[in-house]
Amino acid sequence: MLDFFTIFSKGGLVLWCFQGVRGPAATAPVNALIRSVLLQERGGNNSFTHEALTLKYKLDNQFELVFVVGFQKILTLTYVDKLIDDVHKEFRDKYRNEFQQKGALGLLNGTFDFKDDFMRLLRDAEESSKVRAPTVMKTFEQSLKSQKTVKCMIETRGEKPKEKVKNKKNKGSKKDGTEAVAAPSKASVGDKQLSAAGEKEELTKDEILQKNREEFFRRHMKAGEKSRSPKPDAQKEKGKKPRVWDLGNSNAKVLDYSNSATNGSAEACPVEEFDPDMALGDKNREPGRLYDLEYESDDEAEEEKVVQNPSKPSVKKGGLGGMFGMLKGLVGSKSLTRGDMDPVLEKMKDHLIAKNVAAEIAVQLCESVAKKLEGKVMGTFTTVTSTVKQALQEALVQILQPQRRVDVLRDVMDAQRHRRPYVITFCGVNGVGKSTNLAKISFWLIENGFSVLIAACDTFRAGAVEQLRTHTRRLNALHPPESHGGRSMVQLYEKGYGKDAAGIAMEAISYARNQGFDVVLVDTAGRMQDNAPLMTALAKLIAVNAPDLVLFVGEALVGNEAVDQLVKFNKALADHSMAQTPRLIDGIVLTKFDTIDDKVGAAISMTYITSKPIVFVGTGQTYCDLRSLNAKAVVAALMKA
Ligand code: GDP
Repeated sequence: MLDFFTIFSKGGLVLWCFQGVRGPAATAPVNALIRSVLLQERGGNNSFTHEALTLKYKLDNQFELVFVVGFQKILTLTYVDKLIDDVHKEFRDKYRNEFQQKGALGLLNGTFDFKDDFMRLLRDAEESSKVRAPTVMKTFEQSLKSQKTVKCMIETRGEKPKEKVKNKKNKGSKKDGTEAVAAPSKASVGDKQLSAAGEKEELTKDEILQKNREEFFRRHMKAGEKSRSPKPDAQKEKGKKPRVWDLGNSNAKVLDYSNSATNGSAEACPVEEFDPDMALGDKNREPGRLYDLEYESDDEAEEEKVVQNPSKPSVKKGGLGGMFGMLKGLVGSKSLTRGDMDPVLEKMKDHLIAKNVAAEIAVQLCESVAKKLEGKVMGTFTTVTSTVKQALQEALVQILQPQRRVDVLRDVMDAQRHRRPYVITFCGVNGVGKSTNLAKISFWLIENGFSVLIAACDTFRAGAVEQLRTHTRRLNALHPPESHGGRSMVQLYEKGYGKDAAGIAMEAISYARNQGFDVVLVDTAGRMQDNAPLMTALAKLIAVNAPDLVLFVGEALVGNEAVDQLVKFNKALADHSMAQTPRLIDGIVLTKFDTIDDKVGAAISMTYITSKPIVFVGTGQTYCDLRSLNAKAVVAALMKA
């Protein structure tokens, strides 16, 4: 019933392989497993699905071996886990000496006569799954319920804890009543370690909180008039105050339309009142350059060291050393066990969750690291903490580095050569920053010499078209046709409200082709990921217009919610598309990154779940607040205590 079982070294050498009678060749699914799971640090659970197959695998980190079994996913083979364990044990015991004496070179010319052993283990595993006695239903007398009296089922206030204590005592807990409620059922040495770690954790949490608070105030004091967050000032003055936008007008009179004849049109915000310096933000930047995301940190130098040379255990106090230092213990030249790693992994998991990584993903990440390290022999002067931390850092960087790189400028030039506009569609829920970041991307494209047509396909939200019109006018003010040989670098294509968005996008694209625009940026209406009719409309817009790039705009601020949105948008596009191979999301624009301090976990969660690259990062409200993702900076922020 198995399709294949293969054993190969982590270096890529196949040592032994069993091929089932009807099964497909192991090569393609195993390659997919290596590419999508083992190299991408997604080894949290031991299972991987490739087309019609389920692959289960086990790593032997001591001898650097991988054991993979493949079978049809419609089958429920209960013996596979046992088989993989048995084969692993038998194979390594049989060839242990060979591996130890000859090392990796020995594998090259080693012959592994394992067929008979494997067939025996397979037979045993199959038999053991068959002989499992059928479960017989308990009689009422055997059940616990039969021992209960009517009296004990009556609950009186205050007695509930006693009941619980009694139950716990019945189960053999030696702890007293107050402890028993919270005590986990497996009272063991491991638990003691954990509770000790818990006490330390509380201490550290306080320290972390204190440190964060100090840092927060220090930053905002330093920032002065350049303060990025209006919160501290806002707290001082009571009462609701009108918000002042960086790109907008601070003059309240301008917002007063009561005496104006403009009727709320775009003219209500005259160009002359727009401050180009404010809209541009950083004056020292190099025009057209998309800067890497930087992580501002007081102990940046220390972070740099940690990222660049993570193999050395940190001896400094504070920073990463402070966070994980408490669990350090020298375990020279011994192979890592799960028990060694568990307390460190537990801490790391909590740390990741505190940084806004989705809980489920934090667990999977730690699990993946544990699987990768279990059995690995550590160097003499390496601590468990530094080994685990280094593996986690590597895993995080790996996750953030896209499998598929999106190079927008190169692709636009490519489209230019084919005399067609390059089309980007922006989608996401309301208020995440679609229009604002679309405008920033327009600005960046214009600075790179490309002309942009903005297609106003949010025909739903009042003010959406006006918002884009204002951006267009401001972008034109910053890059007037005079400085581009009389050519208008940005134009708005709009048809007002209530019309079919897919149709407008199509008209805009053909207009751009006729007028020689280089890029079309399609703004779409914000929609909730669960709204089926609106998701169908989006799928239609994308299917009909076949954009070159579909970008999902999500805010870093909401953390796990952004992950849910992204997953559901992607799924909805697949479900609601009429096409056989539906067009899905190609990449992410992660906005409001400036508002999250070092709680950068959403970036990890989003890329981990969907493997989509983060193409742009929005870091503020000016046109220059657009960055490309720097994986190391994000990981440094993530690992910072
Ligand atoms: P849309 O409904 O998705 O088009 O969202 P908007 O573009 O209208 O943006 C909603 C709000 O988020 C506006 O106030 C923007 O100024 C703000 N915004 C957008 N991107 C960023 C960003 O990167 N950082 C910050 N701090 N605010 C942003």
